[in-house]
Amino acid sequence: MHRAIVLNKNDEGVIASVQSLTDADLPEGDVTVQVAYSTLNYKDGLAITGKAPVVKQYPMVPGVDFSGTVESSDHPDFKPGDAVILNGWGVGEGHPGGMSQKARVKGEWLVPLPSVLTPRRAMAVGTAGYTAMLCMLALVRQGVTPDKGDVLVTGANGGVGSVAVALLAGRGFNVVASTGRIEEAGHLKALGASEVIHRDELSGPGKPLGKTRWAAAVDTVGSQTLANVLSTTQYGGSVAACGLAQGMDLPTTVAPFILRGVNLLGVDSVYVPMERRVEAWDCIATELDTDKLESMTTEVGLDEVIPLAEKILSGQVRGRTVVDVN
Ligand code: NDP
Repeated sequence: MHRAIVLNKNDEGVIASVQSLTDADLPEGDVTVQVAYSTLNYKDGLAITGKAPVVKQYPMVPGVDFSGTVESSDHPDFKPGDAVILNGWGVGEGHPGGMSQKARVKGEWLVPLPSVLTPRRAMAVGTAGYTAMLCMLALVRQGVTPDKGDVLVTGANGGVGSVAVALLAGRGFNVVASTGRIEEAGHLKALGASEVIHRDELSGPGKPLGKTRWAAAVDTVGSQTLANVLSTTQYGGSVAACGLAQGMDLPTTVAPFILRGVNLLGVDSVYVPMERRVEAWDCIATELDTDKLESMTTEVGLDEVIPLAEKILSGQVRGRTVVDVN
């Protein structure tokens, strides 16, 4: 038997509970993993509360990521005892996920755990931190360098945002952190932000073009905030967009693109090709400061996850939440 969070749906909505399951409940897959840690990401909050149609079928075990040890494998690249990470590929959405003591997945979805990361640390990073790295790598690939000017991070106290602040500061960028929780300014500065601004500066209606403020940005918020970020990005600057915490809409004009050559870089973490995943995890392993990561991480057990799902959606969870499933 193993314990897992199980989501079911009835006329009143999604019901989440912790249940005991057997191996017969595991899905198809060629690698079975004893899960050590999962994490609570924004998308897991949407899945557990049913506030957005993240889950494709019920019953479903949520958890878009996990770390753990291979228990059995029919895949040539993995053998029992191997330490692995999984994130994305629709796990926790269409395929039972990481909020469970056991998971069965396709071996081609697994990334070997980099030797300098522990399973806990990998999940302290989790999908959110790995997405932050994908965003930074997208900006760097676009030619953004520290001498070009300030880099803005929106939703800076969230999981993606907190890690993005630490990673960008680690590479020498001057980071401006935008947050609704200005009382956490000290924490954001400790992560490496040079300046902290209130998100209200960016979240209301704006002009097609504004005074330029940023060389680049990592945006986790979308909607009017992303529109304002685009209209205040300097000539030739780049914005990596990965999130929708304010909303899925984007009320912008073509002005930033056709008059300032601003680049809008879409970042998806779920179906990124394997070589980009390995690059991102390797960079995280070498670049992300352990103390900074620990300072933004809270650990909870499986039984504590369900009430936290509402909180992450209302922006009340700071940084990263690691779930010890055992
Ligand atoms: P968190 O909930 O941890 O962070 C989101 C942050 O956004 C909050 O902490 C808050 O930051 C800010 N925020 C919340 N509500 C609003 C609002 N109404 N207006 C403006 N800002 C708001 O989530 P994650 O860091 O896990 O994820 C961030 C976003 O990125 C989510 O939308 C998620 O779906 C997306 N994402 C996308 C991925 C991809 O593959 N593209 C992968 C991972 C995440 P503060 O308190 O600092 O204001």
